[in-house]
Amino acid sequence: MRFFDPHIHMSSRTTDDFEHMAAAGVRAVIEPAFWLGQPRTTVGSFVDYFSSLIGWERFRAAQFGISHFCAIGLNAKEANNEGLARDVLELVPRFALKQGVVAIGEIGFDEITSAEEHALREQIAIAQANDMVVMVHSPHRDKKRGIERTIDIAREVGLDMNMLVIDHNNEETVDAVLDAGAWAAFTIYPHTKMGSARMVDIVEHYGPERILVDSSADWGVSDPLSVPKTARLMLERGLPPDAVERCTWANALEAYGQSGQIDLEALARPPAIDQRELWSDNSVLRGQEPRVDETVPN
Ligand SMILES: [Zn+2]
Repeated sequence: MRFFDPHIHMSSRTTDDFEHMAAAGVRAVIEPAFWLGQPRTTVGSFVDYFSSLIGWERFRAAQFGISHFCAIGLNAKEANNEGLARDVLELVPRFALKQGVVAIGEIGFDEITSAEEHALREQIAIAQANDMVVMVHSPHRDKKRGIERTIDIAREVGLDMNMLVIDHNNEETVDAVLDAGAWAAFTIYPHTKMGSARMVDIVEHYGPERILVDSSADWGVSDPLSVPKTARLMLERGLPPDAVERCTWANALEAYGQSGQIDLEALARPPAIDQRELWSDNSVLRGQEPRVDETVPN
C-alpha cells in the first residue's frame, strides 16, 4: 500500500526516517510551518524557515523517493508575539503561492487568545483571497472549545468548508468538524490516548469519509511511521482496504489536491531517485555511493 502523511515536520527528522518511511510505503508528505520549539526573535528566521520548506526540504525528501508539499503560515504560539506576528503576516502571502505549497497552515488556536484569533482571521482571509486550503491546528488543552471557535469563525467569514482541514481531533471533537462539512484529521502519537487502536474505532464508527490520519512527527516523542502502522492495524481489525486507503491516502489527496499543486500522475509513478543531484551545490550524501534508479521512460 502507499500512504500520504499530511502533517509531519520532516525538517526535524533524519534521513533514516525518510528511508524507513519510504520502505513502509509513505509516498507523499505535507510539512506545515510551525514553531521551532523555542520562540523566534526576528522575522528573518521565518523567511529562512519558509524558504527551507519550499527548497531544501522538498529536495531532501525527493532524494529518498518521497514527494514533499508544505503549508505556509504563522503558527498559533508565535501569533502571541504581536509585533513579530504583524511582520510574519505580511510575509505569508509572499510564500503561499510558491510551488509545492498546498495550504495556509498550520494556523489556529493554542491558548485561545485574541492575538491568536487575529492571526487566524488574517490568514483565513489570505487563503480565501487565493483560493487556498486552510490547515488548522487545534489546542492540546481546551481542544473542544478551540475547534468550536475555529468553526464559528470559518462560518462567520464564509470560508468554504471543503477548504478547511482541522487537525489533532479526538472523539470529543470529530462530530463538530464532520457536521460542519470540514475535513477531520487525526494525529497518532505513540504511547498516548490517541493511538492507532482508537483511530480504528473512530473509522469503524464514522466511516472513512473526510477523515485523515497523520503523524505530526517533529522533534518530540512521535512516530514518522504512524500512518502505515495505523493502516496495518485497520486492516488487521477487518476494515475494508478501500476505507483504509481513503483515510491514509485518497482523502489527503482530495483535500490538498484542491491547491492544484499535486501532480497526480507523477505521484502514481514509482519514484525514480537520483542521489547525484544537488541543491544549491549541496547533496544529502556524506561520501556514500549515490542511489540512482533507472528512470521509467514516459
Ligand atoms: Zn504540526
